[in-house]
This record gives sequence, structure tokens and C-alpha cells, in this order.
Amino acid sequence: MIRHQHSQELSTLQSIFEGIDDAIFCHDLDMRITHWNPAAERLFGYGHEEIINESVYLLIPEERQQEKMEIMRDIMEGKRIGHFKTIRRTREGVEIPVSITISPIRDQEGQVIGSSQVARSIIEENTAEEKQARLAAIVASSDDAIVGKSLQGIITSWNIGAEKMFGYTEQEAIGQHISLLIPPERLDEEDIIIGNIRAGKKVDHFQTIRRTKGGQQLHISLTVSPILNKAGEIIGASKIARNITAQKEAERSIAKSMERMEILNSISKSINEDLDLQHILQKVTDATTRLTGADFGAFFYNQVDQAGESYWLYTISGAPRAAFENFPMPRNTAVFHPTFSGEGVVRVDDVTKDPRYGKNSPYFGMPEGHLPVVSYLAVPVITHSGVVIGGLFFGHQQAGIFKEEHEDLVVTVASQAAVAIDNSRLFEEVKDLSNKKDEFIALASHELKTPLTSMSGFLQILERTVPDGIAKSFAEKALKQLAKLNDLVNDLFDISKIQAGKLQLNFEPFDLSDLLDEIADTFGQTHAHYNLKMAADGELWVSGDKMRLEQVLTNLLGNAVKYAPDAREVSMIAIRTGNEVRISVKDQGPGILPENQQHIFSQFYRVKEQERKTSGLGLGLYISKDIIDRHGGRIWVESTPGHGATFTFSLPAFTN
Ligand code: ADP
Repeated sequence: MIRHQHSQELSTLQSIFEGIDDAIFCHDLDMRITHWNPAAERLFGYGHEEIINESVYLLIPEERQQEKMEIMRDIMEGKRIGHFKTIRRTREGVEIPVSITISPIRDQEGQVIGSSQVARSIIEENTAEEKQARLAAIVASSDDAIVGKSLQGIITSWNIGAEKMFGYTEQEAIGQHISLLIPPERLDEEDIIIGNIRAGKKVDHFQTIRRTKGGQQLHISLTVSPILNKAGEIIGASKIARNITAQKEAERSIAKSMERMEILNSISKSINEDLDLQHILQKVTDATTRLTGADFGAFFYNQVDQAGESYWLYTISGAPRAAFENFPMPRNTAVFHPTFSGEGVVRVDDVTKDPRYGKNSPYFGMPEGHLPVVSYLAVPVITHSGVVIGGLFFGHQQAGIFKEEHEDLVVTVASQAAVAIDNSRLFEEVKDLSNKKDEFIALASHELKTPLTSMSGFLQILERTVPDGIAKSFAEKALKQLAKLNDLVNDLFDISKIQAGKLQLNFEPFDLSDLLDEIADTFGQTHAHYNLKMAADGELWVSGDKMRLEQVLTNLLGNAVKYAPDAREVSMIAIRTGNEVRISVKDQGPGILPENQQHIFSQFYRVKEQERKTSGLGLGLYISKDIIDRHGGRIWVESTPGHGATFTFSLPAFTN
């Protein structure tokens, strides 16, 4: 019976031994393995046959063998070692973390004869722990603030990043409501965030402002995620805040410099296009006052008058002119001197404390009615040739307003302004000369016309009264030359009227065909040896100054003959196309090179090669263009050198 019970127990043990998930094996005092269950086979990879009678050291990495010996000492003393964590080695040589419980095996007399070991792999347990430790390390070392809070908004965790960012220690923060960090005007943001979290939604990269312990406002980017318990219920939120104040500042400073670049570009564009000195200086003063954030800015012209030396205010921005009136500035004030002598920029945070200040009292020690100036910036405006034209001066009633960047900006604008001012001075000089020339032409042509008219009258009488013969032919020749001279003087006279804007046109509707017939008639009489081909097509009514349009056509025909002396044919074609009437004069002369075509409509321009061969002033086409332009038409030339030239002008057709 006892035997039977015993064998039943054995077989129960055997089946546990076989079926259990833990590796179980035993060894004797010679360290030879005596028992080995299937789980041990699965864990270590050795089959039962392979391992039985082999040394247990097969399973122990070398550096752990010493440890095994120590364990054996305890075993020999009958001690049991529970859940000892160590490393063991598989058949493949892979080292695995295991938890082992080692117990002594005794014989019937109670003598220890070996040990049994129950081993369990703790790889998973280890990785979870490791993961947690890693996460904790990341959270601790992160520069981002990582904060946990309950759904009620109570702070439950607070990393070092949060401490650094917001200034509260872990003890101070935990248990407090998260609104500790939220500026009052943004408190409702929290409701929205918590609303999202309750709905299981993550809030991603939400840019907002939070407040530090010291009251400083920080731009942060916030990511808030729900925290779930094991049952998957939302129990709180973890928030990661990144300080983006620097990034925001960088963005702002980029935007600011973009704005400055735009202002600078627009100043340089507008001052380069402008040739009026007063305009340029006003633009420069306005823009630089804006760029520097000055209360006021002014440009002082460096002018020496006969009485002595004195500066004149030229432009002012940001303050009424009266603030500077009656404000004489002697040349050598210690503050002004460096600017006007071109020594360089003066930038002072507090001019009232500057040793140079007030030296020339009563002038610069703030004369009565003068604007209070504390921050002071003065930049000389120097031309390319080194002449100090003047200076740009800025003032602000607070100290420390003008920084290096402002100085740089004004220096840049000042050098652009100097170029523009130089150009405008040159332009003024040229304009002066040009006005003088115009005045001269107007006067001369007017004075020439009177004797010409009377000479022509006398010659005509002479030509009619003298009998045929040599004297008559001389009178005829003289009249021809006089007609040419008259044309030249007329051109000069027209030019002076155009310049003065006094060339008057008398518009009336008329049929151009009639005018063309008249012109063809006259041309036939004066140029009998030329064949004038005429072609007119369609309604040719226009509204214009008949006399002036005749002048244009006569000029074009005259050129066609003048510049093609050997040709025998000129064509004049008039057509109506759409709303335009077009008239072309086509000759068979040498034509005009493309590079000259664009210039021949400007005043006094003559093609070099023809200058010696023909007489003229280079005014006919200029005047013609002016007349056609003022009729709302266009005039142009088409020419292939060697194959003649075709001058065409168009006029708006007249319809009633
Ligand atoms: P001008 O005849 O007094 O020189 P214009 O203004 O009428 O002045 O003409 C300007 C220049 O254009 C002339 O000097 C000449 O070189 C050129 N030109 C004008 N018409 C013709 C043409 N039909 N053929 C060749 N060159 C021409």
C-alpha cells in the first residue's frame, strides 16, 4: 500500500516535472546533471540525452562560475536560495537573464547529495524594467518640460526640464493646479485642452504663451496626450512644452529685417528715380526717422554763408518745423563738429551726459522751445568725391534708443542719398544749361525771323520786276536759299515752342485725301523730275491740325528726296485700317541702319555718314514726332539698309 502510494506520488511529481513551464534540473556533488525536464530543454537548448551526466558549468558563463561555487557552499550547508537573478548560457552560447531557486537534495540520512534548480527566464521582465528606466532617464534629462496632470488639472509629475523652464521646483509644482503657468487671459485654453484629452484626442504643437515663476512670458509649443490606465480609461494628461521664445524672436527679427530691407529698397528706388533735391532729402529723412524709431529726424545742409559759417535745416520728420526755427547752429559745436567735418558717426545713449554736450551754450544746451533730446545719432552725408553735403540727425527723449543696427541702416541710406544728391545737383546744373540753351534758341529764332521776312519780301519784288536775265536768275536762286533758311529758322522756332510747351495745335475734322492731293500737286511742281506714286484707300477723315500735318508730310517727302538724290521715285500710301489712318512715305534711298533708327526722332540727331553730304539741323523728325504724338498717333520707320526707308505715321480715324 505504502509502496503503491509512493509510486503514485512519484508519477505525480514526474508529470509536474515534465509539464511545468519552469526549467528544472538537478546535479550531484560532482556537478554532473542528473535530471533535466523538457522546459529546461526549451530554455537552454540541450536535449535530455545530451546533457545528462554533463557538467552543470556548461550552463554557466565563465565569469559567473565563482558565483556558482559560493552558492554551492550555501547548499552544502543545507540553505535554499530563492529567486536569485543571474545569467546563464544556452547551447548556442546566448547569455540569458534568469531567476533561479536552488535547493539542496538530501539522501535518507539527510546528507546533501546534490542540488535542484528551478530557472525562469526574466528577459521580458528585464526589458520592461529597462524601458522604464530609460524613459525615466529621458524624461529627467529632457530640455523640454514634461508635466503630468490629472483630469482636474492638478500637476502630478514635474521633470527637471519643467523646473528649468518655469522656475518652480518639483515640490512647489506637484499638487498645484496647472493654471499656475497660464497667463490669466489664456485660462480658457486649458478647458479646450482638457476637453480634447477627455475625448481621447492629442493636442499637437499648440503654440501659446505660458508664465514662469518670475512672471516672464514664454512662447511655447505644447503637445498634450491623454494618460490611460491599464483598463484603457483616461486618467490624466501628459504635456510636453518646448520653449520657442528664441525661435519666435528669430522669426520676429527676420520679419523685422525683411521689413527693413523692403524700406531700404523702396528708398533707394524712389531716391534714384527722383532728381529733385528737396524731395530726395525729405524721403531720406522720413524713412530714416521711421527706421531708427526716432522721435524726430532732420537733415541739415552743410552750407557756408557769406556772413560766416552756418547750417541750414533742410528737412525734418516727426516734429513741426517751428521746433527748429530760430535755432542757429554754429559750426563748431563739439557735438556737431564730427558730423560736419565728416569725421564719422556720433551715437550717444544720453547726450545730456556726454562731455561734448552743452559746450556751446546757449546754442546746443537745449535752446528754448527745442525738442528734448537724450538719445542722439548723427550721420554725415558724404559724396563720392568726399564733400560733406550735410548730416542726418536723430533724437529721442529716452536714453539708449539708437543701437548699432540703426547706425548701420542710416549709414547705408546716407551713402545712397549722397549719390542721389550728387546726381540731382548735376541734373540741376544740366537743367540750368539746357534752359539757357532753350532761351537762346527762342530768342535767336525770333530775332532771325524779322529780317528774313523782309528780305524775302524785297527779293520777291526784285524777282518779279527785273527783266529776264542773269539778275533775275540770281534773284530766283537767292529766294530758294532764303526758303531753306526760312525752313531752318522755322524748325528752330518750333523747337523752342515745343520746349516751352507753347506749340499750339488747331484741331478740326478734315479729309486727308484732299491734303494729300494738294501736297502731291506742290511736289509735282517743285520736283518735276521725280515720280510721286500716290495710293489712297478708304475713308481718310481725321481730326487734326491741317497745317501741322502738312508740315509732317512735307518734311517726310523732303527727306525722301534729300537723302535719296539719285532716286527717281517716291511713294505715298494712305490707308484706313480699323480705327486708324496710316500714311507712309517710301523712298529708294540708302535706308537707315537699325542702330540709327531708334535715334533719328530725337532732337539734333543726324546720322554721321550723311552729315557732310546734306545740310540740316536734325530737327524735322523730332518736330514731326511731337506733332503726331499730340494727335494721339505714332510715327516710326522701317528700313533695310540699301533698300530705302519707309516712314509711317498713324492717326486716329475721325468718325461722327
Ligand atoms: P535733318 O534732315 O535736318 O537732318 P531730320 O530730323 O529730318 O533732320 O532727320 C534726322 C536724320 O534722320 C537725318 O539727318 C538723316 O540722317 C536721317 N534720315 C531722315 N530721313 C531719312 C531718309 N528718308 N533716308 C535716310 N536717312 C534719313
